[in-house]
Formats: sequence, C-alpha cells, structure tokens
Amino acid sequence: MASHLIREWTGIQQFPAATLSKLLELLGKLKQENVSTLTILVMGKGGVGKSSTVNSIVGERVVAVSAFQSEGPRPVMVSRSRAGFTLNIIDTPGLVEGGYVNDQALEIIKRFLLNKTIDVLLYVDRLDAYRVDSLDRQVIKAITDSFGKGIWSRGLVVLTHAQLSPPDGLNYDDFFSRRSEALLKVVRMGAQIRKQEFQDSSIPVVLVENSGRCRTNDSGEKILPNGTAWIPNLVKTITDVVSNGSKAILVDKKLIEGPNPNDRGKFFIPLILAFQYFFVVKRIQRAIKNDIAKESKPLWELRDMGLSNRKF
Ligand code: GDP
Ligand code: MG
Repeated sequence: MASHLIREWTGIQQFPAATLSKLLELLGKLKQENVSTLTILVMGKGGVGKSSTVNSIVGERVVAVSAFQSEGPRPVMVSRSRAGFTLNIIDTPGLVEGGYVNDQALEIIKRFLLNKTIDVLLYVDRLDAYRVDSLDRQVIKAITDSFGKGIWSRGLVVLTHAQLSPPDGLNYDDFFSRRSEALLKVVRMGAQIRKQEFQDSSIPVVLVENSGRCRTNDSGEKILPNGTAWIPNLVKTITDVVSNGSKAILVDKKLIEGPNPNDRGKFFIPLILAFQYFFVVKRIQRAIKNDIAKESKPLWELRDMGLSNRKF
C-alpha cells in the first residue's frame, strides 16, 4: 500500500455544519476505542448506487457514477485522512454479468484486497426494487464464499433511492420493512446463516438518498422522508458495527487462495474418495473377478467356444 496516496479529507468540510459536527464526534469516539483506520468495502450488483454512496460518504466526487452500467473492471480504493484518522473506502465493480455472478470480477476484487483488512462491508441495493430473486442469493453466496460467513457480522445492508413514494398506497415504513425483510432473508439464505445465529447478530439496514434532489432540513442536511439526516445516520451505524465485538476480516493469501472458508472440511473429500476406491471398490472388483473365475460355464457358452461335443 506504500504507493497508495492518502489525501487530506477535505470533502468532510463540504458537509453542513450540523453533519460535520456529528461526523467528527463519531470519529472521535472511534479514536477513543483505538480505531484510527477504517476500511469499508462496498459491494453489490451493478447500477444500485455503490459509487454514488462512496462519493456521498467522502463528500467529494471521487469515483465515477454511471447510469448505464459502464463501470471500470477494477476496484478503486479512496483514502482520506483527518486529524490522525484514516478512512479507506473501496468501490467495486458490479458482481453480475449476463444474469450470473461474474467470477472473474470477484477474483479481481479478491486480489485487490490481498493483505487489506475489511472493517465493514456495505452491501448495497436499491430500496425501490420490488423483488429479490436467486441472483441476489448468488451474489450474497459469492461474497460469503470469498470472505467467509464472518463478513456478515461486519456487514450493513444499504438501500439507495430512499426518497421514494411506495407503490399501491403502501405506507413508507411498511414498504421499507417489507423490502428489508425480503433482502435480509436472501442474505440469510445466501450466507447460510442459521435463523438463530441471524437473530443473535442482526444485520442493520440503512437508507441512503444519493440524489442531488434529496430533501434537506433547516440545517441543510440531506434527509430521509422521515426527517433523519442520513449521512450521520449511516456513519453512526458503521461505527456501531465496528464496535459490535466481531472480528474484522483480514484478506490474506490463505483466504483468497485456500479452500472456500466456509467448508474447510471439504478438504477431506478427496482423501475419503481415495480411501473408498482402494478399500471398497478394489475389494468388490477383486471379489467379482474371483467369482467369474470360479463360475462354471453354461453349456451354450462352451458350445460357442467349440468345447462342447454334445448333440442338440
Ligand atoms: P453503481 O453501478 O452501483 O456504482 O451505481 P452508480 O453509483 O453508478 O449509480 C447508478 C445510477 O443510479 C446513476 O445514474 C446514479 O446517479 C443513480 N443513483 C445512485 N444512487 C441513487 C440514489 O440514492 N437516488 C437516486 N435517485 N439515484 C441514484
Ligand atoms: Mg460503480
């Protein structure tokens, strides 16, 4: 990371004073807990608002946003420091191509993350999407298979496009909770988290509105339809996750080159197969061969071999 440029976090000054003071307070709390670096990994499908969310958090236009899914193929890490605190935020290309998880994109992301420690995962999707399907589950599974189940105890679900009018006259809160529940369910299935484990450490769902037309309060802070200033709320939830007692994810060689971290036991499968081959299959084969050798040949077979002199 030596060549990586860490700039002064000037973007933080762009926030309205009310947001700025809340952010500085949160960063101060982290420093009190001896957290002086925070590395946030942003993942999700294409076009859901990952890059926009990165720009919103940093307060500068640091990564390209596109309405037409023409994302670059590589992850980008943006680093900003302020009063001894460093924020690293890693924007990644969408994980889906042609209706499937793009394994190559995932591989590139894994290599990029080598020797980095992920403190928080932001799994981004849109609030205004009305269904979840097997593709969502595959994306979650791909993330879990790459970094281990533990990544979800450092995870947040971020829902963009939060400034929406729910369809069919649904109340906003009802719509939000139904969308969150549907997504969390798919996270639980894709990550193969048992219901009990999931309840013990529930994954927070946070609303985000990246649009320049996001409503603001009297202090000029961007707010959600319920009046919450969403940037401090998102950062607060991130700091809560960092302090929830779970471990950050160190992406080392073993993690990205080794077996799927969730099924290390599968390592024994080839050994078990070899054992079965030599001790079970071989034995049966030998027994069959013996049987054949001992078998008395039927007359018709002897006749066909010209060994029978019986008359028919
Ligand atoms: P990515 O592919 O996940 O990185 O998505 P982008 O950040 O490039 O955003 C895709 C498109 O959605 C762009 O046209 C953004 O302007 C738009 N967008 C992203 N987030 C929001 C949001 O919260 N609200 C609205 N209205 N548009 C958004
Ligand atoms: Mg992007």
